[in-house]
Amino acid sequence: MSEANQIPFLDLITPHVELEQELTEVFRRALRTAGFIGGPMVENFETSFAEFCAAKHAVAVSSGTDALRFALMACGVGPGDVVVTVPNTFIATTEAISQSRAIPEFVDVDERTYNMSAQMLERFLEKQCVRNSAGKLISLRNGRPVAAVIPVHLYGQMADMDPILELADRFGLIVVEDACQAHGAQYFSRKSERWHTAGSMGRAAAFSFYPGKNLGACGEAGAVTTNDPAIAAKIRMLRDHGQAHKYYHDIEGYNGRLDSIQAGLLHVKLAHLAGWNQLRRERAADYNRLLAGNEAVVCPYEPSWSRAVYHLYVIRTQDRDGLMKQLKEAGIATGIHYPVPLHMQKAYASLHYGATDLPVASRVAAEIVSIPMFPQITTQQQAKVVEHIRAVTSTATQSPNVLAEQSV
Ligand SMILES: *Cc1c(COP(=O)(O)O)cnc(C)c1O
Repeated sequence: MSEANQIPFLDLITPHVELEQELTEVFRRALRTAGFIGGPMVENFETSFAEFCAAKHAVAVSSGTDALRFALMACGVGPGDVVVTVPNTFIATTEAISQSRAIPEFVDVDERTYNMSAQMLERFLEKQCVRNSAGKLISLRNGRPVAAVIPVHLYGQMADMDPILELADRFGLIVVEDACQAHGAQYFSRKSERWHTAGSMGRAAAFSFYPGKNLGACGEAGAVTTNDPAIAAKIRMLRDHGQAHKYYHDIEGYNGRLDSIQAGLLHVKLAHLAGWNQLRRERAADYNRLLAGNEAVVCPYEPSWSRAVYHLYVIRTQDRDGLMKQLKEAGIATGIHYPVPLHMQKAYASLHYGATDLPVASRVAAEIVSIPMFPQITTQQQAKVVEHIRAVTSTATQSPNVLAEQSV
């Protein structure tokens, strides 16, 4: 099959070719000023990214994983604390918890949005709780305090934040958003009666600028957003060896800074992010329309309170392997996000979860497949993807019973 007929999973070439002059100018500026670490390129990007997220502060760091870890640490999560999250996420979410010396625990997800179920969170928190001397309710897990919750805005759609924030308030939990897939996603709060942007609702939020994300660097990059100036200041220390002034270290930190060149490149691309997100929403609507009526395929569900930015377009089907094989043979790239939920990973065997403990996440993991989604995907490419999905699913749904009835 010729290269031209292949449909990639995402396109990391076209947007960079289109912006090549502006992007190259960033390198030139960095080379001529020897501004490689920190400086105005980083500060300007931080200001613009905070504004994009409708958050007061953004602190650029070296990856989404560092963003999550620094956010937890800056919020005071530490040794012995329990942090609750979902099992259907990238392992960075729980690595950040463990590396803050806290203990990850999982709650199941909503069957339709694949995001954290507030009901399951409530059940988890209510299972074991005490009142402290000040009369505040504290949830416990094996005698340890539940300190924080990380809702993951999966595939570019925000978790149902109202009830999660309410539970966090009731149980004194810190909320850190994993917004690594959700740059620009929006949520309508029934409580405040207005739209909120991902990264502005929790105590802090982590973003990744891994190249394939909706806003991607030309390398590794991430950021934390927060409305709390003290948390922003703490993260600035953590990313830079615990120093606010060179060689005066108030705490031990990390080498977690963002390169100036990456910040400059991200700043150029940030100007296009809203437009790219809009295109993703339009292409998602096209897929929804083209796949409508196909009973063997479940399309992404967007509640009325959500404006998703479709980092991924994920469908569900019983014959996932058959579908992936058909698409692969047609030169169409697909992916699974994620094939093994975290509670079933070897790395977390010591947490003693079983396959049946989180039934929704486990069921969904066996049926999901991500199909090509990027702002520049063409109508013809989408039509071809759907044509090949139809080719497998139309036969897959014809169970012997259905055929027997039809022949009567
Ligand atoms: C990409 C991603 C991360 C990690 O980001 P990196 O920049 O790769 O470290 C964390 N959480 C989620 C949900 C992600 O998709």
